[in-house]
Amino acid sequence: MPYTTIHINPISPEPTNGSVLVIYTGGTLGMVYETKGRQLVPFDFQQIIEKVPEIGRLDFDITFLSLEKPIDSSNVNPEVWIELAKIIQAHYDQFDSFVILHGTDTMAYTASALSFLLENLNKPVILTGAQLPIGVARSDARENVMTALELASAKNEEGHPIITEVCIYFNSFLLRGNRAKKKESSDFNAFDSANYPPLANAGVRIEYNTPFIRNYDPSRQLSIQEHLDNNVAFLKMFPGISPQVVHSILNISGLKGIVLQTYGAGNATTEPWFLEAIQKAIERNVIIFNVSQCDGGRVSQGHYETSKFLEEVGVVSGSDITAEAAITKMMYVFGKEHDPEKWRDMLAKPLCGEMSI
Ligand code: ASP
Repeated sequence: MPYTTIHINPISPEPTNGSVLVIYTGGTLGMVYETKGRQLVPFDFQQIIEKVPEIGRLDFDITFLSLEKPIDSSNVNPEVWIELAKIIQAHYDQFDSFVILHGTDTMAYTASALSFLLENLNKPVILTGAQLPIGVARSDARENVMTALELASAKNEEGHPIITEVCIYFNSFLLRGNRAKKKESSDFNAFDSANYPPLANAGVRIEYNTPFIRNYDPSRQLSIQEHLDNNVAFLKMFPGISPQVVHSILNISGLKGIVLQTYGAGNATTEPWFLEAIQKAIERNVIIFNVSQCDGGRVSQGHYETSKFLEEVGVVSGSDITAEAAITKMMYVFGKEHDPEKWRDMLAKPLCGEMSI
């Protein structure tokens, strides 16, 4: 995927905040009013300082990298995620931190996918975006970008980065990327992390929630997974779901796994045709990953009669994972391993803080 880069000279020869690579992928954030008209057009990153003069006053060595064809995040796909992972890997030694500017619609999917692809990450990767374009007076873009940059550069007393994981920064909160969810399409407070506390709260001062932040560990050496397998699907339960719908999803050719979106603490209908369809799929080595339709709380298979069968037949419990993290985790696990037994083990345990055990 082609891209262009521009470098913004730091205001001092040895910038106190180190170096950051800002990767622009597209989305609402990067829109400005065209010079004469009243129309919003994509941002030209060659003019970044003109549009956001505050950036030029930061004591950072900043390089901007823009995908040649910025995309609405509804067009994001596994190829884009792998490309982003490759860009980060290729620049990993050169930069202290990474900020990704991304549309909000699928930001939680991208953050989740990157958390798996960037194995042994030990530097900050912070995604942010905006609900209103950067060229609009009331835009949230400036605050989100400026604070994301500050969080990316934050160091502890030993001089190590405070954040060493993939996060989303939005509207004052820094969230673990694979725990986040877009919850709002209009409000500025667009993201939530119902099952894991925010890693930081950016008020007048930035307060870090240290016990919940993954520790810096110099023994972690970055490697990336370059293959994702998208032979996956969601199957969302609803009262009245028909056998035809369930059978047609479970019998998709080449299907390796489904995220079964259940009710409450992991419950589903106990109608015999449904139980038989699930059992047959598992016998064919289709992995079924049980994720709740509720944002908060967790799957507890066997707690109710309506989930006992799922436990007995070998459905994998997704505990408190989000649907976004569950589907990208499946793509990652199927892309990395070939043995269905390994798939089950990897799905059942946290790989990078995406679920609680
Ligand atoms: N449709 C846009 C996108 O996700 C919305 C946004 O950026 O907030 O790319």
